[in-house]
Amino acid sequence: MSAPLHKARPAGQGRALPDTQQGMRRRNLSRVLHTVRDDGPLSRAAVASRIGLTRAAVSTLVDELIRTGLLEELGPERPGRVGRPGSALAVSGRGPAGIGAEVGVDHLAVCAVDLRGEVRARAVRHVPNRDRSAEPVLGELTELIHRVTAEAEGEGLWPAGLAVAVPGLVARDARTVVRAPNLGWLDTDLGALLPEKLPLTVANEANFGALAELWLGEDTPRDFLHVSAEIGIGAAVVVDGRVLHGNRGFAGELGHVPVWPDGPSCACGGRGCLEQYAGEEAVLRAAGLEPGEDRVGLLAGRAEQGDAAVRRALHDAGTALGIALTGAVNLLDPENVVLGGALSGLSPWLLPSLRSELARRTAGPSCPVSVSALGPQGPLLGAAHSVVRAVLDDPAAVAERG
Ligand SMILES: [Zn+2]
Repeated sequence: MSAPLHKARPAGQGRALPDTQQGMRRRNLSRVLHTVRDDGPLSRAAVASRIGLTRAAVSTLVDELIRTGLLEELGPERPGRVGRPGSALAVSGRGPAGIGAEVGVDHLAVCAVDLRGEVRARAVRHVPNRDRSAEPVLGELTELIHRVTAEAEGEGLWPAGLAVAVPGLVARDARTVVRAPNLGWLDTDLGALLPEKLPLTVANEANFGALAELWLGEDTPRDFLHVSAEIGIGAAVVVDGRVLHGNRGFAGELGHVPVWPDGPSCACGGRGCLEQYAGEEAVLRAAGLEPGEDRVGLLAGRAEQGDAAVRRALHDAGTALGIALTGAVNLLDPENVVLGGALSGLSPWLLPSLRSELARRTAGPSCPVSVSALGPQGPLLGAAHSVVRAVLDDPAAVAERG
């Protein structure tokens, strides 16, 4: 029995398999599965020519993937082709599923994604979680997880793992929330409070949002900064297709980069942090509005109607984002910056000042800024897909567990 798939492994960090015969077999199983998923339906011969292995070797690997329910045969290919007809292979729509969950400041969400990348079940509950202790919040989340899992199981899927996106700092054990200021949680072990027997990965929502962008976005580069916001502002640094976690796992706290060193004090103990200018509540305050439930909807609606105070507040938030991002861009030289989460819904009013500030201040040529098409769905999808990716990267581990 191998170690559970995800435990103690930060999301998106594929484990290097040992360079032994066994390691080689596992790598080849993954190559076959990835190839069929990316280019399928494919015959065994087509898989063999794509990955440069013999047909016999591929057949053995394919048989194992069919036996463990990861691949399925669609029946004989159309007649009339040259050579012996082969059966077309596809990734199974009835195999393992990734369960993704999200704890937001005012919502909970869970979804199940199959190996093909399709969302097969989803549940969302709008509930104010701010300053609620972790036990009742995770109790409600567990209910949603059970509901989504049951729905997925009804379609012949089985949960391969659970990944939870949280708006806070997560320890390197990938299960302890060290600090989630907007929830009021400190040193909370989510593994102890989620009564699931599933392999668990907990990560910051910005990291899962960035992974979703990497895996599902159109033409996403392998080096980029992903910036997202809810109440707080988070960022993820993606280097060569991997999220940079930092020494303690806390990398990406763009929200607490000082924009104006003598600015308003912040919950982190600093002053003039980006969050004090570009977080949702800060923008509402600057626009003279009360923070309600649908903060982004309120701001976007008012901005669309031409509300001068809201537009000014968003312009200033864009400037603050540009200043904070200048530091990150100068330091890291990413290929681009992606605005995700709630920021994507406000981008028409944030982008002009953000871009001009960034262009004015960066040392090299200006770094392009784009807007995520996934929007607020990014973290939840990234969480579910991280489980799916782990199965695709090491399908043998699933067989050993099953
Ligand atoms: Zn701060």
